[in-house]
Amino acid sequence: MSKRDYYEVLGVERSASPEEIKKAYRRLAKQYHPDFNKDDGESEKKFREIKEAYDVLSDPQKREQYDRFGHQAGFDAGAAGQQGFSGSGFGGFGFGGGIDEIFEQFFGGMGGGARRRPPGPEQGNHLRYDLDITLEEAYSGGEKTINIPRTENCPECNGSRAKAGTSPEACSTCGGSGQQQFARSTPFGRFVSMQPCSECRGEGTIVREPCPACSAQGRIVKERKIDIKVPAGIEDGSRLRVSGGGEAGVRGGPPGDLYVVVRVRPHKKFKRQGSNLIMEQPISISQAALGVELEVPTLDGTAELTVPEGTQHGTTFRLKGRGMPYLRGSGKGDLQVKIKVTVPKRLNQRQKELLAELAHLSGEDVGVENKGLFDKVKNAFSGS
Ligand SMILES: [Zn+2]
Ligand SMILES: [Zn+2]
Repeated sequence: MSKRDYYEVLGVERSASPEEIKKAYRRLAKQYHPDFNKDDGESEKKFREIKEAYDVLSDPQKREQYDRFGHQAGFDAGAAGQQGFSGSGFGGFGFGGGIDEIFEQFFGGMGGGARRRPPGPEQGNHLRYDLDITLEEAYSGGEKTINIPRTENCPECNGSRAKAGTSPEACSTCGGSGQQQFARSTPFGRFVSMQPCSECRGEGTIVREPCPACSAQGRIVKERKIDIKVPAGIEDGSRLRVSGGGEAGVRGGPPGDLYVVVRVRPHKKFKRQGSNLIMEQPISISQAALGVELEVPTLDGTAELTVPEGTQHGTTFRLKGRGMPYLRGSGKGDLQVKIKVTVPKRLNQRQKELLAELAHLSGEDVGVENKGLFDKVKNAFSGS
């Protein structure tokens, strides 16, 4: 596809100043704007060409690239398989946005904000719902039912806004287009601008007998039960999309979507780290020193944990496959059990004696508040 030189499109010299480029663009944009050239595909094409040229030449950086590399610089909007510098930061110059949008951006809404076409179908609003679940629920997954109020098409009139048995009539003022023409004289010349029809307020139709169920709104608010499938292993903050679960569309447009944002509540016992679970397990000094067989809780029951003798405070044991399910693929993460050696707070006389004896055998100095007791133990030993 051959492309016209951008400078040629705007009719300016290659040395043109930004001011000259802007002036040329404004003049041409007015001349070829589709609002003033009804049903003329040629001028719409031309307008896009002008807009594209201006987008590049009005940006000093893009202009420099264009001067050096021409169209190969990758400015071509919508060109199949971006060429030239694609991927190096030049791929993203879209010329999206409708022509009206472009026009209003530039001329500050001189078109009167009017749309050229009668209003068409519009997609309904998307909705968001925050769903709180427990860690157990995130572990097992399953179905959750939520209630959401949302607008739906009125079942009485099927969204037509007219009483059952009647239907909206085409507006005679605008002939059903929803638009009215207004001629204006301006310093640039005579313009015909389009504005929403005052009779039907741009709808193109008139409802003679309004539907009583929805007061001619065509839509009603209804609370709906929606079943949400929560996948096992879901992460806090995940977003589930229910296609078509949002609000009803307007004028026959498709419904919006429902986005369910899943919040996993913090758990009393387990902390989550990706697909791993972390928990603390308190054991006594004797258990740490002598070892113990423990039953530790998991999210779906219990697990056996062997704590070998001489286990230190802070040691972590890993129970493979007892963590959270992987969201993708099968299998589970690990359960990490962090040992917390606890010191007894209240001991009876006999227990204290035994500990004192242990300390004595290890050659340790102990006892502050019960000096007498420890001396007694010491004496008992040295006496034998
Ligand atoms: Zn209705
Ligand atoms: Zn009308």
